[in-house]
Amino acid sequence: MRLHDFRGGVHPPSQKHLSAGRPIESLPLPARLYIPLQQHAGAPALPVVTVGQQVGKGELLARAQGATSAPLHAPSSGRIAAIGEFTAPHASGLPLPTIILDTDGEERWAERAPPPDPFSLSPEEVARRVGAAGIVGMGGANFPASVKLSKARQAGVHTLVINGAECEPYVTCDDQLMRERAGEIADGIAIMLHALQASRAVIAIENNKPEAIQAMSDACRHDARIEVLGLPSRYPAGSAKQLIQLLTGLETPAGGRGTDTGLLVHNVGTAYAAHRALRHDRPLISRIVTVSGGAVPEPRNLEVPIGALAADLLAYCGGVSDERARLLMGGPMMGQPLPGPQVPVIKGTNGILALTPDEVGEAGEPSPCIRCGRCVEACPMGLLPLELSKRARGEDWEGIQALGLNDCMSCGSCAYVCPSHIPLPQYFAYARGMLAAQRREEQKARRTRELMEQRQARFERQERAKAEAAAARRAAKKPRTVVLEADED
Ligand code: SF4
Ligand code: SF4
Repeated sequence: MRLHDFRGGVHPPSQKHLSAGRPIESLPLPARLYIPLQQHAGAPALPVVTVGQQVGKGELLARAQGATSAPLHAPSSGRIAAIGEFTAPHASGLPLPTIILDTDGEERWAERAPPPDPFSLSPEEVARRVGAAGIVGMGGANFPASVKLSKARQAGVHTLVINGAECEPYVTCDDQLMRERAGEIADGIAIMLHALQASRAVIAIENNKPEAIQAMSDACRHDARIEVLGLPSRYPAGSAKQLIQLLTGLETPAGGRGTDTGLLVHNVGTAYAAHRALRHDRPLISRIVTVSGGAVPEPRNLEVPIGALAADLLAYCGGVSDERARLLMGGPMMGQPLPGPQVPVIKGTNGILALTPDEVGEAGEPSPCIRCGRCVEACPMGLLPLELSKRARGEDWEGIQALGLNDCMSCGSCAYVCPSHIPLPQYFAYARGMLAAQRREEQKARRTRELMEQRQARFERQERAKAEAAAARRAAKKPRTVVLEADED
């Protein structure tokens, strides 16, 4: 396959050497796991367990609620300690409904059925089983994998793209997964090809991971449908739209989907999870996480039960050596700043970073825009970040949408190159928040209007019914006219 190019992008210094090549280790099982009900796009999952209940490992804890929701399963055996609010893995630090599980250390699996050969199942059934295992996009998008598979098959997607690019600095969990578990990933790809009824797959890996490229090439040698492709390393080559552009030269239309180009992108971790679900009947209850950063004494790649706290992971890696360190979930470009270490790992977590002030490069107060245009050159989506931020500052919500705010993928490339250190993505996040609040207000106003109209209609109906009843009563009371007929002679 011939490679094309995508516009913009940046070259942040790679810090992958901190954790690259570190074999995947299992995090010792924490005594308590915190499993947020919202770990996916769509509505939060609905608990099916009660406080005090004993559960086996892999047992269903909460079922999907709605088309783009995903179920949750017990990452270990133990007892449900509480169902309540707990800090979300998000900069806001707001609480989210969460199931809290006290583990019993036994790792006792709930009863599992031996799964049938996945290739004897219909494509629909394979996608259904992927959904039932609670698999969501492991690259951070958190969209249910089964929905993507079903919709892509219906759309006639011909190529499955397996994203092993992993372009964020510091993060190496996918690299290590490919190095160590290439055979299982290759099997997951074959299973997904069957679910899609697609003819081929391309595994795209940045060239800075030669061991992963070699391991995947060896594992896929027997399957002519799967090609392994090295990509030039440039951030954000691992974003789905940029990946599609690199592979096809096609731009995903504004507001469109990748599948419009005939390609479906899934992360390598998702392929591995599909293998576990379809071959071993294992739901998605753990994931590989990179723990790294200058303030982490022993950076590592850890296999972690969903719901372990960032604090558990950091403690296993020697703690945090600099109290001014900034904590992030994900990479330094697109990751979420954390309010503290007491937040749980969720299905989409690929990294926990503790960065020193030097690494964060705190630049002090931003200075005014000098209209150098660097942000425009760096934007992979062809947007005008300086103009977008001007609209956000002026609270021009219509203008910012017209300039393409919805196409901004918060990659941070614009802020990375800005010599004035303007926190451009923060302005965009602010604008998104304001627009969402505006939409909520409009919905509320519309709902209030509907309720008032319904109330008025009900009132009018009641008045009409009363009037009709009164008329009927009056008619009933009216003296009957008796016609006395004259006697016939
Ligand atoms: S890079 Fe910064 S200073 Fe240059 S135009 Fe963009 S916002 Fe202005
Ligand atoms: S954050 Fe948005 S505006 Fe800035 S470079 Fe990325 S896509 Fe463009």
